[in-house]
Amino acid sequence: MGGLLDKWEESFLRELVELDTNSDEKKNYVECAEVAKRNCEEAGLGVEVFDSKHDNIPQPNVVATLDTGSKTTVLLCTHYDVVPAGDEEAWKYPPFKLTLKKDRAFGRGVSDNKGNVVACVSAMKQLIESGGSKVNYKLLVSPNEEIGGAWGIDYLINGGPKIRGDFAVVVDSGPSYVSIGASGVLAGKMTVHGTQGHAGYPFAYNNAIHLSIPLLGEMLGYIDIRRKVESSLPAPPGSPHRNLWGRFSMTVFKAGTKTNVIPGKAEISFDCRLIPEEDPKEVEKSLREYFEGAKTETFVDASLDILMNVHGWHTNPDHAHVKTFHSAVQAAVSPDIPIAADLGGNDGHFFTEVGIPTVCYGTLADDNNYHGLDEFMWLHDFEKVKKVLIQFAEMC
Ligand SMILES: [Zn+2]
Repeated sequence: MGGLLDKWEESFLRELVELDTNSDEKKNYVECAEVAKRNCEEAGLGVEVFDSKHDNIPQPNVVATLDTGSKTTVLLCTHYDVVPAGDEEAWKYPPFKLTLKKDRAFGRGVSDNKGNVVACVSAMKQLIESGGSKVNYKLLVSPNEEIGGAWGIDYLINGGPKIRGDFAVVVDSGPSYVSIGASGVLAGKMTVHGTQGHAGYPFAYNNAIHLSIPLLGEMLGYIDIRRKVESSLPAPPGSPHRNLWGRFSMTVFKAGTKTNVIPGKAEISFDCRLIPEEDPKEVEKSLREYFEGAKTETFVDASLDILMNVHGWHTNPDHAHVKTFHSAVQAAVSPDIPIAADLGGNDGHFFTEVGIPTVCYGTLADDNNYHGLDEFMWLHDFEKVKKVLIQFAEMC
C-alpha cells in the first residue's frame, strides 16, 4: 500500500472522523459505536457492546474479538471519544471531515484515537485472512477516555463485564518508543495568608504577594530534592535525563484584585510528578515537611492543600510479552526504538491495577497537534502500528 490507506480503511476512518464524539457533550456515541461495530463485523470479528447507560446517557463500549483458540488473550485498548474541536473557524481543514494530503490524514481524533481503532481492526482483519495469529486479540473501543475513562475503559475492566487478558497494549501513545509505565501526579495549592487593606497604608497590612516571594524562593529548592528521585525505568528519547525522575513545578499564581488594594491572600498551585515506583502518600509527607521548613525559614504564614493524587504505573521490562512486543516493534519499525516510561500519565494503570502487564504504542507522534488545531496522523505511522500488531501476534 506504500503507506496509504486501502479503500476499506479509508471509508472506516472517514465514517468515524465525521462524527463529532467530543466527551464534553457525549454526543454521537451511539452512532460511532454502531460504525465501529459494523466495521468490526465486516472484518470478521465477534462483537459485543457493553453500555452502563450511566446517568441515562448512552455510552457504549465496543469489544471486538479475534478468537484463534489460543490460550493467550491480548487486550488492545482504544477510544472513540475526542476533545472538542475548539475554534472550528481556525482549522485549515474541517475538523469533522477526513482530509487526506500526501502522507497525512487530517481531522479531529484522527490520531487520538480513531486512526488507531482502524489500525487495530485492519491488523485483526489481515490476521484472520492469513490465519497467522498465535494469540486472541480483544479490541476495546471505549468512550470517555479524554475525561478519565469512567463508564468507558474503567467500566469494562472494573464494572460490568470485568474483561481480563494476559497482556494489554494501550494503542493510544506515540510511535517513537514502547512505553511500559507512566508518572504519577501529586497536585495541590499553597495559600499564603496576609492581611488585606488600602495600598496607601502598606505599613498597616501584611502583603500576601510580598510574603509569597521568599516562601516560593525556598520552595524552588524542592525541585532539586525531586530531581534526586530516580526511577529504574528509562525516560523517553529526548529527555534531559537517562531515567525518569521526580519533578516539581509551581503552575498557577493567584493574588490581588486591584492596584490600590494590598492583597490579603496569594494562592500558588503546584504539580509534582512522581516516578512510577513512588507512593503518592510518601511524597506528600516529604513535600509537607519541606513546606513546613520553608515556612519556618521565612516566617511566612501559609497552608498547603493536596487536591489530586494519582499513582503512576509500570510493567516489568523483562516480562516475556513485553520483550516480544519490543522485538515486534524493532522488526516492523526500526531496531532503534527503545523502551521507556512516560513523563505524563496514561490509561495503562487500569490494566496494571488488576495485574495485567501493559505496554503503550500508537500513532500519536509529537507533531500531530492532537487536542490542538488541524490534528493529523502520519499514514506511515498508521502502517507501522498495523504492522507491529500483526508481527506481535505472529511472534507470540
Ligand atoms: Zn487518546
